[in-house]
Amino acid sequence: MDGYKLEMHLHTSRNSDCGKECPADIAKIYADAGYDGIVCTNHLNRNDLYGYVAPPWRRFFRSISDCWLRDLLELKEEGAKVGIDVFAGAEVSPDEVTYYKPDHPYAEFLLYGVTVDELREQCEKFLTMTQRQLFEWCDSRGILMVQAHPYREMCDVTDTSLLHGIEIYNLHPGHDSRNDLAVELCGRTGLIPTGGSDFHYRGGEGGGVILSRRPKDEKDLASVLRERSHKVISVKE
Ligand SMILES: [Zn+2]
Ligand SMILES: [Zn+2]
Repeated sequence: MDGYKLEMHLHTSRNSDCGKECPADIAKIYADAGYDGIVCTNHLNRNDLYGYVAPPWRRFFRSISDCWLRDLLELKEEGAKVGIDVFAGAEVSPDEVTYYKPDHPYAEFLLYGVTVDELREQCEKFLTMTQRQLFEWCDSRGILMVQAHPYREMCDVTDTSLLHGIEIYNLHPGHDSRNDLAVELCGRTGLIPTGGSDFHYRGGEGGGVILSRRPKDEKDLASVLRERSHKVISVKE
């Protein structure tokens, strides 16, 4: 196959209640499936960070951020063993749009081009940011802010002038993400299209993008996506 096959939406077991696979198993699953790279996009919201990630392990880490980064760093190591690049990323849901409150709006933002150091520094600060603050923070660092599955049940389409991209093909088998509507929104707004498996467990892989070349690092990944020479995988392959 030509091009560079990249997973752009993936969760690990110690960062997500719903994520069932550990980094070592994920690296093997993706090597077997013929991927070249993975962006690890664990959930970053107040409920998961302080309610799921931190309680059992907080005491073993210097900070909450280090605790949150553990699986990402481990996946980078495991990926290297099987020849798969692993890039930092996140699926951020600040307090103003988190699902863990009684009322809408509900939304999540995927970050591409963010580094481990930026995540370590910013992890907890994301939670209290408005969409505009998050967008401006990303924009000033060359990071792409992409709304995840904007038409999934529950989700609300946010202000598209404060986004760089739209996840048009989310292939999570357990949700109807109404991708056709996301494709239409992306076309109408001219934002950058992305896609991913929203991997949580074995068998969930198969989505992502095909890039025209291998990104050197996280910042370069954002550059490649800005070139818009990639293809978004619409059906698991
Ligand atoms: Zn999501
Ligand atoms: Zn997700």
